[in-house]
Amino acid sequence: MKIITEKKPTRVAVVRCDIISETCPGVGCFIAFNKRKMYFKDYDENTEMIAFFTCGGCSGRRVYRLVKSIKKHGADVVHLSSCMQMENYPKCPHIDLIRKTITDAGIKIVEGTHH
Ligand code: SF4
Repeated sequence: MKIITEKKPTRVAVVRCDIISETCPGVGCFIAFNKRKMYFKDYDENTEMIAFFTCGGCSGRRVYRLVKSIKKHGADVVHLSSCMQMENYPKCPHIDLIRKTITDAGIKIVEGTHH
């Protein structure tokens, strides 16, 4: 008898800046994920993007609720989008709180998406 064991896929999500989402559709993040480039380069083909959401506006008011929700759906990792961390955008003043909210939920963080 042949036993097939399926490896559980790694489930990733991206949180990004609500202000920047007004002008950015997130294509760069998805290209990087689909091609397994930049901050997604270590994931195998079995990895799934299960959520892509904005912080909800300062001070990241939506993060707590949505992190609880993706946890229920098996999220392993949340990427903090590159736009939240770049110097040529206004730097997010609430990023430490957002990080803490995610790690308190028991989800790993990766700092960055596509640049
Ligand atoms: S909390 Fe940070 S990531 Fe969210 S809208 Fe404000 S500046 Fe952008």
